[in-house]
Amino acid sequence: MKTLLVRALRLCVPPGKRGCSGGVQKEIRVRFAPSPTGFLHLGGLRTALYNYLFAKKHGGAFILRLEDTDQSRLVPGAADGIEDMLEWAGIPPDESPRQGGPHGPYVQSKRLTLYHEVVQTLLESGAAYRCFCTPQRLELLKKEAFRSRQTPRYDNRCRHLTTNQVQEKLSQSLPFVVRFQLSTGPQAFQDMVYGWTQHDVASVEGDPVILKGDGFPTYHLANVVDDNHMAVTHVLRGEEWLISTTKHLLLYRALGWKPPLYAHLPLLLNKDGSKLSKRQGDIFIQHYEQKGYLADTLLDIITNCGSGFAGNQMGRTLPQLIQQYDLGSTSTHSALLDLDKLPEFNRVHLTRWIDDADTRVQLVSQLQTLLQEKYRDVTFDKEYIERILLLRRGHLCMLTDLLCPNYAYLWIRPSVRMEDLHLLSSEASGIGSLTVRLLQNNHNDMSLEMLNKELRSHLQQLRATKYSTSMKVLRLALSGLETGPSVVEMMLSLGPQESISRLQNALSR
Ligand code: GLU
Repeated sequence: MKTLLVRALRLCVPPGKRGCSGGVQKEIRVRFAPSPTGFLHLGGLRTALYNYLFAKKHGGAFILRLEDTDQSRLVPGAADGIEDMLEWAGIPPDESPRQGGPHGPYVQSKRLTLYHEVVQTLLESGAAYRCFCTPQRLELLKKEAFRSRQTPRYDNRCRHLTTNQVQEKLSQSLPFVVRFQLSTGPQAFQDMVYGWTQHDVASVEGDPVILKGDGFPTYHLANVVDDNHMAVTHVLRGEEWLISTTKHLLLYRALGWKPPLYAHLPLLLNKDGSKLSKRQGDIFIQHYEQKGYLADTLLDIITNCGSGFAGNQMGRTLPQLIQQYDLGSTSTHSALLDLDKLPEFNRVHLTRWIDDADTRVQLVSQLQTLLQEKYRDVTFDKEYIERILLLRRGHLCMLTDLLCPNYAYLWIRPSVRMEDLHLLSSEASGIGSLTVRLLQNNHNDMSLEMLNKELRSHLQQLRATKYSTSMKVLRLALSGLETGPSVVEMMLSLGPQESISRLQNALSR
C-alpha cells in the first residue's frame, strides 16, 4: 500500500503544470476544519501544520474553515483564537474567515442556504428522507438496545413513509429532521495513510441525520458539501474520522460528486500513551505563547514524534519542515509527545533566533519590554540587551530566563560588603585594584581571549590567593553571586565602566 501511496504522491504536479497524461493538474487544496468549541490545542495545531506543509510543498492552498454547526457547543472567542494562533505559529491560511477567498464564506453557519439546496436535491432523488420520529421514540429505541445489549441505532422507520404520509405530517407542521439513506454492503476506499479500509456502515448504524430540526446541517453533510464546493483535493484530518469516511463517500456518490483523497493522521498522545487532555490547560497553544515559547519550537516538537518525516531531528525550521515533509512516511502508530523536552527544543530555536540579525532585533525588543515591566524606573538600551543575548546564546532556554534572580545583576547593581570579599581572601582589595587597572588600560579592546589571558597573568602576581579564589572574589563583587557565568563574561556583559565601578564600590564599603 505504502508503495502505491508514495507513487501517487510523487505524481502530484504543481498547479498549472501539465501532468504525464497531458491534462492540466488541479491545484492542491487542503483544509483545516476545526469546530470553534474550544481553543486551538497541540493536536489541532499538528493537523493544521500537516495540511499547511502538504499545501506549501505542492504549491497549493491551505484553507481554514470553521465548522460551527453545533451551535450549542460554541465557545466565545474560540473562532478568532484559532485563526490568531495559526498566524502566531507562522502557518496562516490562504483562505479563511478573516482572509476571505473565492469559495467563502468560510464559516459553516453562514452557508446554510447551500446545505438546504443540497438536502433538497437528496430528498428529490430519494437518497434522503424526512424523519418525524419524536425524541421520546428515539429514547425508547436507545433504552431497548441497552436492555438487549445491542449498540443503539435508529431503525430507519421513516424511510418507509409514503409520499402521502409525509405530506400529511408536513401539513400538520410536525417537526422533522432529514436522514441520509445508507447503502448496505461493505464499501472500500483507499486511505493515503491507513491503506484499504472497508466498513459496512449500514450494518452498525441507522441512517444518519444530515439536517437537524434547527435547520443546521450535521457535520457529515456540511463537511462533504464544503469540501466539494471549496474544491478540496486532499483531506488530511485526525484518525478519529476514519470511521466516518465511508458515510462521506456514500454522500459523494449520492450527489454525483468526485470525492477528495483522504489521509487520516494518527493521534497525538502523551509520551506514556495517555490522551492529551484539554483539561490539563497546558495543551492550548495560547498557554505556550504566553509562557514565551517560540512558535518554531512548537512546530518542531509536534513533528518530532515519528510521522511524516524520514526521521526525528531537533531544530528544524518551517522551510525545512516544508521541504522534508513526506505524507507517504506517516505511520499509523500514535505519535507520542514528550513535553518535558520543550525547554531544550526552545533553547535550540532561541539560539538560532539570537544568531540571526533579523530575529535578534525582535528578541531585543521583547526583552526590553519585559525588563521595563519588571524594573520600572530603569531603562536599558538596545545595544546593551543585544550584547547580553549574544554572550548568553546557547545557555538560555527561554528569553524570560534573563528575568530570574540569577541574572538580576545584569539589570541592577548588587549590594556587596567588603567584609564578605575579605572572607574569601585577605587580598581582596589587591584583586580588585589589579582588575580595575587591567580594565582601565584595556577598555578599548575587551575580548574574551584577551581578558582571560591578562586576568590570569595579573592575578598570578598575588602570592596568597589561588586564581580560582580570585575569581570568586570578582564574581561576588560584580554580581553578588557565588556561581553563574564566567567572570570574564560578566565583565564583558557589564562593560568596562560598570565593572570598574562595581569593583570600586564593593571594595570601598
Ligand atoms: N470539525 C471537525 C473537527 O473539529 C473536522 C473534521 C474534519 O476535518 O473533517 O474535528
